[in-house]
Amino acid sequence: MPYNLTFPSGTVQYYFNSQFQELDEVLRDKTPIIITDKNVQKLHAPLMEGFPIISLPPGEKTKSIETVAFVGERLIKMEATRKTILVGVGGGVITDLTGFIASVYLRGVDFGFVPTTLLGMVDASIGGKNGVNLGMYKNMLGTIRQPSFILHDAKFLDTLPEQEWSNGFAEAIKYACVFESSLFEKLLSHDIQDFKNSPAALQSMIQRCAEWKNKTVLDDEQEQGSRKLLNFGHTAGHAIETTQDIPHGFAVSIGMIISCCVSERLLGLPSEVRNLLTSLLEQYSLPTSIEFNPDQVMNILKMDKKRTEEGLDLILLEKIGKGIIRSVPFQFIYEALVSFSNETRH
Ligand code: ADP
Ligand code: ZN
Repeated sequence: MPYNLTFPSGTVQYYFNSQFQELDEVLRDKTPIIITDKNVQKLHAPLMEGFPIISLPPGEKTKSIETVAFVGERLIKMEATRKTILVGVGGGVITDLTGFIASVYLRGVDFGFVPTTLLGMVDASIGGKNGVNLGMYKNMLGTIRQPSFILHDAKFLDTLPEQEWSNGFAEAIKYACVFESSLFEKLLSHDIQDFKNSPAALQSMIQRCAEWKNKTVLDDEQEQGSRKLLNFGHTAGHAIETTQDIPHGFAVSIGMIISCCVSERLLGLPSEVRNLLTSLLEQYSLPTSIEFNPDQVMNILKMDKKRTEEGLDLILLEKIGKGIIRSVPFQFIYEALVSFSNETRH
């Protein structure tokens, strides 16, 4: 049975642990059009048979304003009206894009998500942030609007490439660090293969992460305060992601380690925490060191839109399970970057 979550910008019906076939019931009198990518379409064609589909090339490049125009024109040809519901079936790229198109087509039509990646299930499909990139500027155009439903069908994960599992676990580890030490313990006692072998454990982990994200967004949909906790590992991570082409989860993994380095300097976080986090990340095949140029990364951080005169708000760790928002002077960040990059080199 679904349960409802009401945010300032709308109510989401949640169907955890469900099946794609239940979509008919979820959609009721609405006319669906599926938006997906070619990988997902190819791998799961039988499930989507009979639905009108717009299938897009996979990858971050598809999250563009050109795609919005392309899909808009297709929707006109398909005679989509206000009775249409756009159903995004895919990873973060597809759900971000579907939410954005649905927010602007005919000044807004209904939309819902079937996330097909672990990252999508625990993070990207949740929270109502929709958007596209403008050139190299990520999520530069966007809206905050909630999908009317989110349906999880774990069957999609059967075809998920190994690297995408790691990407999703980077976000799960993030929630554990910032919110819940017992989730950290649980992740420590498993690995990707264990979760694949135990659908119940996987389901409960996914649901726990989704609950943390929902709870945080419920408290602060517009990201004025506590929602920033979800950025743990993301500020430094994004800066590194800008300098080299690595998967999002890999960047977040490195970013979380850098946050620990800053936390050691600023809050006296014991170095054992960083060691424990390092081994957990490695357990999920995530990188914990990388060669980078601290000056270049620092310059990118200084261009961050959220910077103040003296520094940046970063999410630091007081301990496992307790993240805090702190304004950190640039000097501290720089020193942490230099010492981390030196360790990486040796
Ligand atoms: P995200 O990692 O943000 O969820 P994407 O939408 O870019 O991002 O999806 C990552 C990649 O995984 C894409 O190449 C996509 O086609 C592919 N993908 C998505 N879902 C599945 C799935 N269930 N099985 C196999 N590949 C998938
Ligand atoms: Zn992320």
